[in-house]
Amino acid sequence: MNCDIAVVGGGPVGVVAALALRDAGFSVVMVERGKAPAAFDVARYDSRVYAIAPASAQLLERLGVWPSIAAARVSPYTRMQVWERAAELGLCFDTSDSGHGALGWIVEQGLILSAAWARLGSLPTRVGVDAEALLLPDDDQDRAELRLSNGEVLRPRLVVAADGADSPLREQAGIETVTWTYAQRAIVAQLSMRSARPRTAYQRFLPTGPLAFLPQADGRHSIVWSADSTRAAELLAMDDATFGAALGEASQYALGELLDVSPRIAFPLRLLHARDYHRAGLVLVGDAAHAIHPLAGQGANLGFADVAQLAETLAAARDAGRDWASARTLSAYSRARKAANLEMLALTDGLYRGFGAGIPGLRELLGIGMEAVNRFAPIKSLLAKQAAAGTG
Ligand SMILES: Cc1cc2nc3c(=O)[nH]c(=O)nc-3n(C[C@H](O)[C@H](O)[C@H](O)COP(=O)(O)OP(=O)(O)OC[C@H]3O[C@@H](n4cnc5c(N)ncnc54)[C@H](O)[C@@H]3O)c2cc1C
Repeated sequence: MNCDIAVVGGGPVGVVAALALRDAGFSVVMVERGKAPAAFDVARYDSRVYAIAPASAQLLERLGVWPSIAAARVSPYTRMQVWERAAELGLCFDTSDSGHGALGWIVEQGLILSAAWARLGSLPTRVGVDAEALLLPDDDQDRAELRLSNGEVLRPRLVVAADGADSPLREQAGIETVTWTYAQRAIVAQLSMRSARPRTAYQRFLPTGPLAFLPQADGRHSIVWSADSTRAAELLAMDDATFGAALGEASQYALGELLDVSPRIAFPLRLLHARDYHRAGLVLVGDAAHAIHPLAGQGANLGFADVAQLAETLAAARDAGRDWASARTLSAYSRARKAANLEMLALTDGLYRGFGAGIPGLRELLGIGMEAVNRFAPIKSLLAKQAAAGTG
């Protein structure tokens, strides 16, 4: 089957890429080896949540996805408190610093996926089907060849790899990565805290890793607690009362005591950046191009920004009468996104190392730095704008 673009991966970035490229006027096929997401059940809370930045919400709005998300459940946050040694000495962003109505919205992963998949409509999909082998275009053939596990062969001008951090397509194309596995795991759970402020996200940097509290619409919080492997194993094994005491101590009771907590799950953490974002006939977006530490809640936001840039760059080349799948066009996309992605990667890695790596004197310096920054509104404003725009 011939088409303009085959998007491989129906995760949050892949499905949004399929919608954005279709809306930009390209014929698109989306391939996902897993199942289609289940219809969102408002009676249940998904323990995986994303902090969605305003730029991502705008993209989802343009694609018609945001209205069903907003109608189901979103939790805006207007204040973010970040500290290391004492809550009152840390950084505090609020909407007056950023000039936006909200710093971001906490949205469940299952809701983003089901709302975005529902917008695919008649867009052709191959679900439960693996993209197995990729043959890139060459001098004789201006289309890629993508062999699927159902025996079908797709012949798109461009393959968009949204196949996640392990990206089989990136591997097949021989694109190298810089990879660093953090000796940490992120523990995710939902919980109720006795005296949290409404619409406030909290983050404390501990020597063992950052602990974030993201406010849910029902007044509970989702936590992402990154801890070195030994500590993570201890936290997972604790009974709820012992976990509550550990959490209270770790957060210095800035949100009061733990009232109840869901089962805890853990994710391994790594940093990954592809050396190139494209080959002839192939382009990388989302975690296939870059995976970052979740401490700034920016991974999917960077992927959505990749998608917005890619759709804009391809459509502009086509509308100007140029070859929209050429190396020149793909280089323009790559240049635009690499700088922003690397900046955020360096920022999150720097924060992780600065607070966690125990370099003598550095944490102390950053602790003092944060307190100074808190008194300096223009820097706060810049930081908040960058966080809110999701561009690093
Ligand atoms: C603990 C934690 C908290 C996080 N919090 C946030 C947050 O608050 N905000 C935020 O923006 N980001 C956050 N992130 C990051 C975010 O989860 C990722 O950036 C995001 O999931 C990447 O989406 P993706 O679509 O690129 O990749 P994925 O979600 O990995 O999706 C890839 C898809 O490709 C499919 N696939 C793979 N290979 C093939 C193939 N050969 N054929 C067909 N299909 C294939 C897979 O089945 C999968 O569905 C967090 C991450 C972690 C670990």
